[in-house]
Amino acid sequence: MLRNAFPPHSMVGTTIFHKIVRREIPADIVFEDDDIMVFKDIHPKAPLHLLFIAKRDEDFVPSIDDLTEKTAHVPGLLIRKAQQFAREHGIKGYQLRFHVGKDGGQEVFYLHLHFLSNQKLEQQQSER
Ligand code: AMP
Repeated sequence: MLRNAFPPHSMVGTTIFHKIVRREIPADIVFEDDDIMVFKDIHPKAPLHLLFIAKRDEDFVPSIDDLTEKTAHVPGLLIRKAQQFAREHGIKGYQLRFHVGKDGGQEVFYLHLHFLSNQKLEQQQSER
């Protein structure tokens, strides 16, 4: 059928984060719900370095620079989820970063929020 001729973008997305969402390549996933996935950065720049990404097809946007009215809510979603994650894990201080564009240090063009903290997640969990 013609309307099924084109798969949703998540089936054709080619970034490494699309592949992680589709579980085609492994990642150290620490949280997931219907909206987002959180996994450990493979090259951590802090004792705890997580990446927050939106999972829904309609929320996909390559970069902050590509935001439109339809996707303007996505950075807020990721920040709110990061805040909730930090509270749930007793992480009191952290840094949130978006790298924007190649000149801004962005390597993966699937919008993601970097979450960095000096508090390790494992410590937080074992202290519970
Ligand atoms: P950015 O520079 O903002 O595009 O950040 C991309 C981040 O993704 C970098 O910090 C990489 O270390 C990280 N990264 C790349 N490939 C993977 C992977 N397979 N699993 C986890 N993190 C990754």
